[in-house]
Amino acid sequence: MPMIAFIGLGNMGSPMSANLRRAGHHVTGYDVSPASCAAAEAAGIAIAPSLAAAAKGADIVVTMLPNGALVLQCWQGDDGLLAHAAPGALFIDSSTIDVADARAAHDAAARAGMKSVDAPVSGGTGGAAAATLTFMVGGTAEAFARAQPILAAMGRKIVHCGDAGAGQAAKICNNMILGISMIAVSEAFVLGEKLGLSHQALFDVASTASGQCWALTTNCPVPGPVPASPANRDYQPGFATALMLKDLRLSQACAETFGAHTALGAHATQLYEDYAATGGAAKDFSGIIGAVRGKNA
Ligand code: NAD
Repeated sequence: MPMIAFIGLGNMGSPMSANLRRAGHHVTGYDVSPASCAAAEAAGIAIAPSLAAAAKGADIVVTMLPNGALVLQCWQGDDGLLAHAAPGALFIDSSTIDVADARAAHDAAARAGMKSVDAPVSGGTGGAAAATLTFMVGGTAEAFARAQPILAAMGRKIVHCGDAGAGQAAKICNNMILGISMIAVSEAFVLGEKLGLSHQALFDVASTASGQCWALTTNCPVPGPVPASPANRDYQPGFATALMLKDLRLSQACAETFGAHTALGAHATQLYEDYAATGGAAKDFSGIIGAVRGKNA
């Protein structure tokens, strides 16, 4: 069994590292937050006192961090992970970060003689706990083949999307679809309300017609039709608006850098920014229907 270092033991990293441990791997964790370390330790993860100590002798290094700057900071430098892992180790970054940062991390790994994949996830904290995450992977075929059994201990679907950065590209594009489609579904329910149409009637039609999408059938923004959706518990996440906004901002940064025209992506980013700034940041992103309704009041 390879030795695994797991960096970033937060809401996602803690259950993901616990699943690696459950699959029989030897996992050493590190996090700057004592609370995150304590939660992971309770799940059987050995905690190292520093990045370098966690990486020492590791064949696999997984990072699950808030942003690209932190990923690059943790990977690089004399005290960083690349300088201390075993020669030829495989680096797996599962954080959601900018495509340019992901490619910079791949370059740094190659310079250090290491292999790497970007492997962001969808499925949220529930998927992390249940080991049912979807991994979107960018990197060489060789690095992907090496990462696959490790990712399989934490997820159910693993897609090789292409070369360096392709996993992040898929993640950002998918979440731009999701952010836009949630607003579309919300606008349809609010228009239906004005027309005297019940939520259930619109759901029964659209969920089996051409309006069908995940935002409607799994994360329905009105209470009732989908009992497990956050709308039934005052929009407790789920997937917080702040995280949706982070992903939409990444999509817009990429659109600008790579010259794509994403008019709806830009408008959706603005609407989630307004919703986050008026109390919605910690709510599930489907709470945007309240803002849509407000605009229609
Ligand atoms: P989180 O804030 O709960 O966890 C991040 C952890 O990183 C924290 O424990 C923090 O202390 C630690 N950290 C920060 N700087 C560090 C450093 N220099 N060294 C070591 N540890 C450090 O975030 P999360 O919800 O676990 O998300 C992690 C990543 O996964 C993010 O990129 C996020 O966008 C992505 N993601 C999250 C979800 C979700 O539903 N939460 C879903 C898909 C993807």
